[in-house]
Amino acid sequence: MPNQSQQPTIVAIASPIGQGGVGVIRLSGRTAHTIGCAVSGKSALTPRHAHFAKFKDNQGAVIDEGVIIYFNAPHSFTGEDVVELQGHGGMVLQNLLLARCFELGARQATAGEFSLRAFENDKIDLVQAEAIADAISATSVAQASSAMRSLSGEFSKKINDLSEKIANIRLYVEASIDFPDEEDVEFLSDGVIEFKIDEILRAVDDILATAKQGQLLRDGVQVVLAGRPNAGKSSLLNRLAGVERAIVTDIAGTTRDTLSETLVLDGLTVHLTDTAGLRDTSDKVEKIGIDRAKSAVKQADILLFVYDVSSESEPFTLAKELFADIIDEIGMENFERKLVMIANKADLLGGVSRETMVDFNHNNSHNGENVPCETMQNNSNSQENSHVPRETVSQIRVSCATGQGLDELVNLLKDKVGFHPPENSLIARTRHIDALKRAKSHATDAHTQLVVYQAGELVAESLRLSQTALGEITGQMSADELLGRIFSSFCIGK
Ligand code: GDP
Ligand code: ZN
Repeated sequence: MPNQSQQPTIVAIASPIGQGGVGVIRLSGRTAHTIGCAVSGKSALTPRHAHFAKFKDNQGAVIDEGVIIYFNAPHSFTGEDVVELQGHGGMVLQNLLLARCFELGARQATAGEFSLRAFENDKIDLVQAEAIADAISATSVAQASSAMRSLSGEFSKKINDLSEKIANIRLYVEASIDFPDEEDVEFLSDGVIEFKIDEILRAVDDILATAKQGQLLRDGVQVVLAGRPNAGKSSLLNRLAGVERAIVTDIAGTTRDTLSETLVLDGLTVHLTDTAGLRDTSDKVEKIGIDRAKSAVKQADILLFVYDVSSESEPFTLAKELFADIIDEIGMENFERKLVMIANKADLLGGVSRETMVDFNHNNSHNGENVPCETMQNNSNSQENSHVPRETVSQIRVSCATGQGLDELVNLLKDKVGFHPPENSLIARTRHIDALKRAKSHATDAHTQLVVYQAGELVAESLRLSQTALGEITGQMSADELLGRIFSSFCIGK
C-alpha cells in the first residue's frame, strides 16, 4: 500500500541519453505504483518482480514494451515507492514514455534528486551520496573502485566510529563538570581523558591521510608545461598522452594558446596544460597566450619547465626570468616548490648514462654525465640571487624522442604531490578534508584546554565542535541526538 508520507512523484530517464538496447525510466514517490500500473495496464505490481508489459499512451496505443519493476517503500534506493520502466533505449521512445509519466502526474526530477531523497530517508549518508556521483564520473579504475568502497560505507564508518569515540569522551567530561564533588568522576585530572583525546588526534590524522589520498585520486593535480618555444613541451604532452594532440613543429611559437588534456598517469589524474611558448613577442595573439600561460602557472600544483638540454646552458636562470612576475607574486620558495626542471632532448647529448636524476647541489661529473654548467657550481652563497636553485627544485632528464626518463618523471610527479594511494583507498573531497581539519583543530584545542587549563567546559565545547565538524561530513550529526545519549546512558537523575 503506497505510503502517504512520501513526497510527490519524480521521474527521469535513468540510463544514458541516446541509443541503446535498454533504456530505463525511474519513478519515485507517493504515486509511483499508481503511475506504473497505469502505464503498464496492470492492476497491481508485485514488489521486486519483473513483469513483462506493454507501455501504453492514454489512447491505449503501445509506446514501447519491456519490463516493469516495483520496489515498495522503504525497500528501494530512495526509501520511497520506486518503479522502473525498462524499455528500449531510443530517444523518441524514452521521451514518449517520460511524457506519459508527466501526464500521469509525475514531475521531472532535478539533478541528484533521487540521491537526495535517499539521503533524506536515511538510505545513504552524504559521503555515500557523493560517492555515487564520483563512481559514475570516474575516469580511472582506481577512482571507480575507491568510490565504490566509499559508497559501501567504509569511509562513513571511519567517520562515525571517530564521532562515537568523541561522544564518549564528552560523556566523561560532562560528568566531571556536573558532579565535581563525586570522587568517581574526577576525570579531568586523572589522565584518562587526555589519553583518549590523544587517541582521537591520532585517529583524525589517520583519516586525514586517507582522505588526502582519496581527494588526490578524485581531483588529480593541475600541471602546467612551460618553457621556451621548441623546448619540446608539446612533444612531452603527446608522449605522456600517448597520442598526437598538440601540434608539434620546428617553427618556434606554433603553440599559441593553452591546450589542456586530462591524463591518468599510473593512477594519478593529471590535468595537463601546454602553454604558449614563453618569450617576449610583439605578436598580439601570442601575447594573450602568454598571459594565459602565466595565470595557469600561478594556479598549477606543478610547473614542468621544459628546456633543451643540448642548447640551454642556464635553464634555471631562464625559468626565473620568464616567471619573474609570478615569483614576485607568490615568492621564490613557493615557485621552487612547484617547479620541475625537465632537461629534454637527452638523446642529443650522446653517450650519456642512463641516470636521469640530476641534483643541482652536487657535482655530478662522477657519473660522467654531460650536465649543464650551472649544475656544477655549488650553492653556498646567497640563494635568492644565485642562479642555482635550492634542493627543493626537482630536475629530471628525459627524451621525448626515445621515451627515456618518462617513467621516472611520472614517479617524480607522484612523489611531489605525495600520491601513494593504498590498495583499499577511499574516494574523498576537499569538503571532507576541510571538515576533518576543523575536527582536528577543535580536538587540539580540547587537548590544550584540558592539559594547560583544566577547563572542563571549554574541553566539552571543543569536543562538541570537533564532533559537529565530523557530522558535517556524513550530514548526520544532530545536537539533540547527543543530548539524548548523554541523558540515557548516565543514570544521573537516579
Ligand atoms: P614546443 O614548442 O616546446 O612545444 O616544442 P615541440 O614539442 O613542438 O618540439 C620542438 C621540436 O623539438 C620538434 O621538432 C620536436 O620533434 C623536437 N623534439 C622534442 N623533443 C625532443 C627530444 O627529446 N629529442 C629530440 N632530438 N628532439 C625533440
Ligand atoms: Zn651527486
